[in-house]
Amino acid sequence: MKRDPDEIAAKMHEALRDKEFKLYLQPKIDLKTKSTAGAEALVRWIGKKGEILFPNEFIPVFEQNGFCIFLDDYMLEQTCRLIRQWMKNGIEPIPISVNQSRLIFFQPDYTARLQQLMETYQIPRGVLILEITEGIALEKEQHLTARLTQIQNLGIQISMDDFGTGYSSLTMLGSLPIDELKLDRGFLLKASDPADTRSRIILQHIFQLAKSLNLPTVAEGIETVEQETFVRNWGGDYGQGYLYDRPMPVKEFNTKYMRGNFNEKTDFII
Ligand code: C2E
Ligand code: MG
Ligand code: MG
Repeated sequence: MKRDPDEIAAKMHEALRDKEFKLYLQPKIDLKTKSTAGAEALVRWIGKKGEILFPNEFIPVFEQNGFCIFLDDYMLEQTCRLIRQWMKNGIEPIPISVNQSRLIFFQPDYTARLQQLMETYQIPRGVLILEITEGIALEKEQHLTARLTQIQNLGIQISMDDFGTGYSSLTMLGSLPIDELKLDRGFLLKASDPADTRSRIILQHIFQLAKSLNLPTVAEGIETVEQETFVRNWGGDYGQGYLYDRPMPVKEFNTKYMRGNFNEKTDFII
């Protein structure tokens, strides 16, 4: 169903206050060991009547009206809170990737806020990953490298999301200090079409290129064993997709992937 942007905008502040934005997690799988190497935080808006809205229905509206700054900050804090809760329960945290819109990324106090979150929740180095898109990479490039390095110095990793969708520039891979490359699902879809030899060759070479640059890769949208085999044979490191699991609420993720004894009463307010 297509939602009315005005209706979304009218409800967003109240929804944030009433905690209707929920953190869902989708596992990221190490293709060599098949173990869970991390997870991606994905937002779901669960309305008063229990209806679920997906990000594609409201993120574009929030990017337009600026509300993304508040939502992304909230999701970031929820993620940090979750990591701390795992640790409080004696569970070794796995790295969590959080999507960041261009708007929040260029806020003047952004790195100070990240530092504050890292300190408040005592997040170990390497456990928080920020996913930025090529759109960010294209803007204000001279400031970007400095900002990325500042963030990395806090112990936060940077992942380039949706690589291959927009205006991918290969030179960007050489110039920006990024820690991981996430290849857009569209790439894999095209390359899995037996008639599309050219797309397959391109994807294969992107994996090789990333490997030569020592840049770990995540293939998004792995849905079939055949696609997984392609990616593994081409040297892809990690995979994410419905073949392994769909994004799920934190509670379900904990039971399935974190194997801890959680105290139902006090834990996981998320
Ligand atoms: P993304 O960051 O590229 O996330 C991957 C999307 O692919 C997710 O959609 C995920 O559910 C979906 N996906 C995963 N595996 C498969 C698969 O095997 N097949 C198919 N068809 N899809 C798969 P989702 O959760 O609907 O999110 C869509 C986009 O919304 C995300 O794309 C991201 O760009 C944005 N988004 C999600 N949460 C946030 C957030 O908290 N902040 C911001 N700024 N953006 C967000
Ligand atoms: Mg992402
Ligand atoms: Mg993506």
